[in-house]
Amino acid sequence: MKPKSVLVVGAGISGLMAATILKENGVAVTVLDKGRGAGGRTSTRRIEMDHAIARFDHGAQYFTVSDERFAKYVERWLALGIVKPLGETFIRENGEPEWSEETRYIGATGMNAIAKYLAESVRAFFSTRVVKLSCDGKWTVETDAGKTFSADALVLSPPVPQSLELLAASRIALPADVEKELQSIDYHSCIAALMLFDGIEPILPRCGIWFQGEPIAFACDNLRKGISSVPTLTIHAGPLFSAAHWEMSDSVIIEQMLRLLADWVRSPVKHWQAHRWRYAFARTVLDKPFVMLDSPAPLLFIGDGFVAPRIEGAAISGISAATALLERL
Ligand SMILES: Cc1cc2nc3c(=O)[nH]c(=O)nc-3n(C[C@H](O)[C@H](O)[C@H](O)COP(=O)(O)OP(=O)(O)OC[C@H]3O[C@@H](n4cnc5c(N)ncnc54)[C@H](O)[C@@H]3O)c2cc1C
Repeated sequence: MKPKSVLVVGAGISGLMAATILKENGVAVTVLDKGRGAGGRTSTRRIEMDHAIARFDHGAQYFTVSDERFAKYVERWLALGIVKPLGETFIRENGEPEWSEETRYIGATGMNAIAKYLAESVRAFFSTRVVKLSCDGKWTVETDAGKTFSADALVLSPPVPQSLELLAASRIALPADVEKELQSIDYHSCIAALMLFDGIEPILPRCGIWFQGEPIAFACDNLRKGISSVPTLTIHAGPLFSAAHWEMSDSVIIEQMLRLLADWVRSPVKHWQAHRWRYAFARTVLDKPFVMLDSPAPLLFIGDGFVAPRIEGAAISGISAATALLERL
């Protein structure tokens, strides 16, 4: 039977793409996310200080498009002004320009613009952490506030280790082969540093700098990128630096990052924050767009742990899962 109602846990790109397609096809969809807003790892942080608004994309920086199914949506977002091509180029650590064949797109007001737009047309609840799942023919989820939601099918879009933790906490066992397959998906962590500066001039000579991967992976100037009205930097540490500094205080991390970036960042930092992405990039992904279990009611695992560890991979996973769920008659 075609599910008439679907619960989607997670309002990142994968969950919202799945929800959008289900909604477009007449399914009653409810999206639940523990975050304060939509986006997941495509989040944009806004800090108001001294009458100025600073913005930082602190997760994903841009996305590329190669799949026709995703391209169809990106064209729509381009026409609506939700996304735009990144107008600037990147350089490498040695100062040489970096050449890319692919068009890079960004959210016009920050990377969370896509998720914000998609979330507007579905029934979505934020600051709503799902803590327990159960199934008696229908799936029921319980939130940290003790509310329950039920539907014919359940789509789990958090990073796969978090979805598996949710099942374990709910004492729901998966078939051994499926559990093993899902457990093979694991993630790198990433510490992101957000820095705000005085003045009106950009800090970096280009919008983005690719470093060697360790200890720093990437630095982005959000003023050059066109999403912040004051100079701000987002700096992503590499997986090894992130793991080694995970437990250290934010101030120690920022101090070390600034020392590593001394050749590039000379202005005094006015305000800083550190953000720890525990599940930043899938290190191993499954070569299939989603995993679906049929019994006792459809349960799907989606996200960037399938297809490819980036925005387009997450989108394809959500699109494919929704299509499969709709075809399940
Ligand atoms: C630092 C960094 C830089 C990146 N750079 C790029 C880039 O430049 N280009 C690119 O294409 N990709 C990049 N990526 C990867 C990209 O952001 C991800 O692949 C993509 O956003 C994943 O989307 P998703 O929907 O699979 O997961 P997520 O965005 O993680 O969405 C999952 C959602 O589930 C929610 N959730 C989890 N548990 C619960 C629960 N129990 N109850 C309710 N809600 C829950 C979370 O709050 C989250 O919103 C980057 C990622 C990071 C972290």
